[in-house]
Amino acid sequence: SIKKEREIFSRYYDEELGQLLTKQRYIVDHIEEAMAEGYIKVYYQPLVRALTKEICGFEALVRWADPHYGFLSPAEFIPVLEEYHLIHRLDLYVLEKICQDYQKTKEEGGSLVPVSLNLSRMDFELCDVFRELEERMTKYQVPREMLTLEITESVLNKSQLLISSQIKRFHEAGYKVWMDDFGSGYSSLNILKDFDFDLLKIDMLLLREFNEKSKKIVSSIVDMAKKIGIRTLAEGVETEEQLEFLREIGCEKLQGYYIGKPAPYLESIMQCREKGFPFEAAWKRRYNDD
Ligand code: C2E
Ligand code: MG
Ligand code: MG
Ligand code: MG
Repeated sequence: SIKKEREIFSRYYDEELGQLLTKQRYIVDHIEEAMAEGYIKVYYQPLVRALTKEICGFEALVRWADPHYGFLSPAEFIPVLEEYHLIHRLDLYVLEKICQDYQKTKEEGGSLVPVSLNLSRMDFELCDVFRELEERMTKYQVPREMLTLEITESVLNKSQLLISSQIKRFHEAGYKVWMDDFGSGYSSLNILKDFDFDLLKIDMLLLREFNEKSKKIVSSIVDMAKKIGIRTLAEGVETEEQLEFLREIGCEKLQGYYIGKPAPYLESIMQCREKGFPFEAAWKRRYNDD
């Protein structure tokens, strides 16, 4: 009967919703412990220069391997941490790890390239991002040009003034600021006009299908960025064919599984070496304009 069906439906529905809420609660209750116990780790994904295939940076991506839940995806815990006003705790933890890895690499005489940190819009509302960053960069003696800040396009129009004034401050202090996921939101062009970014990270969805139409869209974005003096990086490069195309249209930097998957710092470097992507020698001297 319909009544019975409804009962069954609502039971399943509640179960699913219940599980989701339990997981959310778990995330909120365990984030501090997960950071303290090292269940949360920072992985590094290489960025290469399209022309030379040399590593010119890394993006720091957070990973949570929980003893109870197993692997939790950033796509599920980041929105929860934003909602519960805890995201700045995580992002500053990630920064701390980046600084520690930088210091270690420097001591060991390893190659140093800039690392990208993802920031959420909420970070700017929850803390004085500039001051928190400066504090850690000073503590670990990391040159500001070694940290790049990625801010997602889709969240920008909500706190325009706050963020655009902060971007100015970051630039003045020597940080690079990139727009993440360009092309995934709905007012990209307005944002380009109002914010001062060094580089556009072209969202991987635009290249996913890789047909004539999507290729034209991507090459138009690269042309437009050139005209307004902004650099470009394509995300989600998975094939040699995509790499060749992006190189041809003049996209400057590339990131994706074809080059390397996110991995712990040393593993990530090994992975690139095996695949034939060497470190860019003295990136700063050769590309002063990075
Ligand atoms: P994002 O900043 O756009 O990062 C790129 C995402 O694409 C990463 O997913 C990366 O693993 C994935 N990716 C890279 N290359 C490829 C590829 O060739 N193919 C495919 N299919 N995927 C690729 P991930 O690590 O799951 O992160 C998802 C999102 O979570 C990130 O998107 C970022 O917005 C957010 N996120 C990750 N770490 C942090 C963090 O520390 N703080 C904040 N606030 N957000 C973070
Ligand atoms: Mg990013
Ligand atoms: Mg992105
Ligand atoms: Mg993305």
